[in-house]
Amino acid sequence: MAALAIAAYQFLPDEMWWLTGWQVGIGWAGVAALLVGAHRLPRPERLPWWLFAAGVFSNSTGIAVASVSEAWYGLVDLPTPADPFFLGLYPACAAALAVLIRRRDPRSDWPALVDAATITTGFGLLAWVYVIAPVNLGDPMDRLAHATEVAYPIGDLLLIAMTSRLLRSGGSRGAPFWWITGSLTAFLVGDCAWVVLDNLGVTGEVLELPWVQRGLESVFLVAFVLFGVACLHRGAREVAAPADARPAGLGIGLLALLAGASLIAPAVLAAQTASGEVADGWSIAACSAVLFLLVVARMALLIRHVERQARQVRELARSDELTGLPNRRAWNDELPRALERARRNSEPVAVAILDLDHFKRYNDTFGHPAGDQLLKAASAAWHATLRDVDVIARFGGEEFVVLLPAAGVGDARRAMARALAATPLGQTFSAGLAVWDGVETSDELLKRADAALYEAKAAGRNRVEVAGQASRLAA
Ligand code: GH3
Ligand code: MG
Ligand code: MG
Repeated sequence: MAALAIAAYQFLPDEMWWLTGWQVGIGWAGVAALLVGAHRLPRPERLPWWLFAAGVFSNSTGIAVASVSEAWYGLVDLPTPADPFFLGLYPACAAALAVLIRRRDPRSDWPALVDAATITTGFGLLAWVYVIAPVNLGDPMDRLAHATEVAYPIGDLLLIAMTSRLLRSGGSRGAPFWWITGSLTAFLVGDCAWVVLDNLGVTGEVLELPWVQRGLESVFLVAFVLFGVACLHRGAREVAAPADARPAGLGIGLLALLAGASLIAPAVLAAQTASGEVADGWSIAACSAVLFLLVVARMALLIRHVERQARQVRELARSDELTGLPNRRAWNDELPRALERARRNSEPVAVAILDLDHFKRYNDTFGHPAGDQLLKAASAAWHATLRDVDVIARFGGEEFVVLLPAAGVGDARRAMARALAATPLGQTFSAGLAVWDGVETSDELLKRADAALYEAKAAGRNRVEVAGQASRLAA
């Protein structure tokens, strides 16, 4: 229906009140749709839609105000009474977007902010060079008129900033998300079209062409309507729903947009150089500097992100998922280092291999999940009996290894006895204990501990056996 209304607009009689009435009608219909849609939402979720409604109401009502003030009072010079109405769109939409972004990304997201800043800086330079700077302050217009003229591009920049930040936010991207984005884009495209025409100095002639003026006005009508469509959509709630997982972001589209925005400064410089006069050298230099810094900041954030992930991956690769203890990989790194330290400090060091007794039977009796729970509880209990300098790792299955720095046979035996007594749920383990002889390799040391474990099992389990000295046969 809205599409029909906009299509019909192209064929309305060339009579001002018809045109004005139609445009305002479509705008207000958009407002009505926003209010109805918002009313369907739970109370706390209505705010952004109300703000959009306020913006659209203000902007579309401005069309009526402009017609009235022009036709009845002949007011056409800036600022006209309609300007505050037109401009009202920007803060209202920006506030709505701020609320949406905040809800979608409750935590601050620096990369998204840097991206939005990059895009805004690039377009900001365009706006400055082609729209804001050319405002001739020497004109016999008063300050308010100048301020009004400049307020529009600044409003557009504000919307560009917020829209690009919205596009970078996590969270749902259903139809309403794209309707809103489309609507904001329509506003920006409409505004840009006026600016381009103005800059080319051809506004007058172009608007004479059939369809052009109405086509341009229709862009804004589309924007009014899309807000309403978004809000009436079933999925309107999703737009403000917090993101679960952050999208990795930096797809090809975003990359192209960031590259394009960063290249605006050299492009403007090239254009001015080609035209024979670099009029905005300082602005171009300043924006280039800002863009460079933003790109460097983005790079730094990315690198930090990658480093953080690498650290997490390293930690994951070295810990056992079930018990949280160091795993065999971590143990294999740790043991030679511990032997090296012992050598340097001329200290003893002992290792023990623990193996739960009749764990298969426990599994068979109570089930595999209960077996898992026993592994967790037992490893935690053993860990608690050890000193801070000791290391306990899961070697695999129901086998654990313990490193006891600066412990001789007596200390190590007592440590293992404490661990054995702490084994939960009435379970026991057998352990083989070996004290480093000062020359053997980690593998040889472990092999002796393993042999002692075998003896402990053979001797009836629920005990700790100490390994004999390595039988080093001269080769
Ligand atoms: P022994 O006293 O001789 O050591 O007897 P055992 O039953 O403990 O030893 P065995 O090697 O025959 O069985 C070990 C069992 O440990 C078999 C395997 O299903 C179980 N197991 C290994 N890893 C896990 C695990 O991660 N979770 C559970 N629940 N069971 C495991
Ligand atoms: Mg066992
Ligand atoms: Mg075993």
